[in-house]
Amino acid sequence: MCEKPDLRNMELPELQQMMEHIGEKKFRAEQIYKWIFSGVTDFDDMTNISAELRAKLKENTVITQPELLRVQKSEADGTQKYLFGFSDGNAVETVFMKYKYGNSVCVSSQAGCRMGCRFCASGIDGLRRNLTAGEIISEVLAAERESGEKINHVVVMGTGEPFDNYGNVAKFIRLLNSPKGFGLSMRNITVSTCGLIPGIEKFARDFPQANLAISLHAPNDEIRNTMMPVNGSYPMKPLLEACRAYTEKTSRRITFEYTLVSGKNDTKEAARELARRLSGMLCHVNLIPLNAVKETGLKGTDRKNAEAFMKVLESKGIPATIRRELGSDIDAACGQLRLAESRKIHPAK
Ligand code: SF4
Repeated sequence: MCEKPDLRNMELPELQQMMEHIGEKKFRAEQIYKWIFSGVTDFDDMTNISAELRAKLKENTVITQPELLRVQKSEADGTQKYLFGFSDGNAVETVFMKYKYGNSVCVSSQAGCRMGCRFCASGIDGLRRNLTAGEIISEVLAAERESGEKINHVVVMGTGEPFDNYGNVAKFIRLLNSPKGFGLSMRNITVSTCGLIPGIEKFARDFPQANLAISLHAPNDEIRNTMMPVNGSYPMKPLLEACRAYTEKTSRRITFEYTLVSGKNDTKEAARELARRLSGMLCHVNLIPLNAVKETGLKGTDRKNAEAFMKVLESKGIPATIRRELGSDIDAACGQLRLAESRKIHPAK
C-alpha cells in the first residue's frame, strides 16, 4: 500500500484538518470531498480547485482506485461481478445487482478471510489483509463507474468478516452515510457477520439504524460446529441472545442467512429446531441453496427441498424467503473469481 494518505480514506473533519495544516481555507475540504464521492480520480478534474492546490494534492496524497481485473455480466438479470485489484497485488470481489427497489452492491471488507466457514470459497486461502475504509468505498465508486448506474443499497457481505475489521468498516459506513460524502441512508446499509458477538454489540451501539444480517446456517451447535469454526468461540445460545438484545435495543429486524447444504442442515427436523430457537424474535430467514464450490465438495439443496424447509418455518410463524438466484448464468458462488486470481498471484501454500 502507498505511504501517502488516501483521500478516499478521509472523513470530512480529517480533510478539513489537512487543509488547515497546509494553509488552505477549510471550505476547500468540502469541495474536494464532493469530488472524491462523485468518483473523480484525477486531481485535474477538480475544476473549482486552484492549480496550485491540485499540485499540492497530487504530490502529497493519492486517490485509491482499484483496477478492474475481470468482469462477468449476467445476460439474464443484469448482475455484474467484478474482480478489483489493489496496488499491492491483492484482489477482491464486488457484485452489482439490480432489484425492483433499486441497485445494490455487495462489497468485500477483507482480502481473504480467516473465519474458515466450510462452505465458502472466500476463506479457503485464509486472510491476506484488512481493507481500509477508502478501499471499501472505492469498490462502491468503481461499481458505479463500471455499471454506469447509481447505487442505492450497500451490503457488506462479500469476502471477509466485517467485524474482524470493525474500525475500518465503521469508518466506511460513516463515509457512505455522510450527507456531504456519498449520502446513503443508514437504512440502505446492511452488514453481515458470521456471529462475532462483541461486534454485534458494538454495531447496535454505533449504527442502530443500519441493518444487520447473521450468517447462521445451522439450527444447533452440533451442525454449526461442522460448518463454521467461529461457533467454537461464539456458540448458538449466546449468539442468539446477542441477536435478541440487538433487536430489542434497535427495534430493527435481523436477517438470518441460512445456506441450505444437501444432507447437512436442510431436513424438516432442522427447520423445526431453527423455528423453535428463533421463536418470538423480530427476524427474517433468508434461505440460500448452496452454489457448489468444487474445493468444498458440498452440494446445494434442490428447489423442492428448499421450499419444504421454508414452509416449515412459515408454519411456525418465522418469516422466510428463498433468495432469488441472481447471476445464475455467471460463475455465481461468492469468492470464486478471487480464489482463482489469488492463486495466480499467491500460489496456495
Ligand atoms: S462465509 Fe464470510 S465469514 Fe465465513 S469464511 Fe466466507 S467470507 Fe469468511
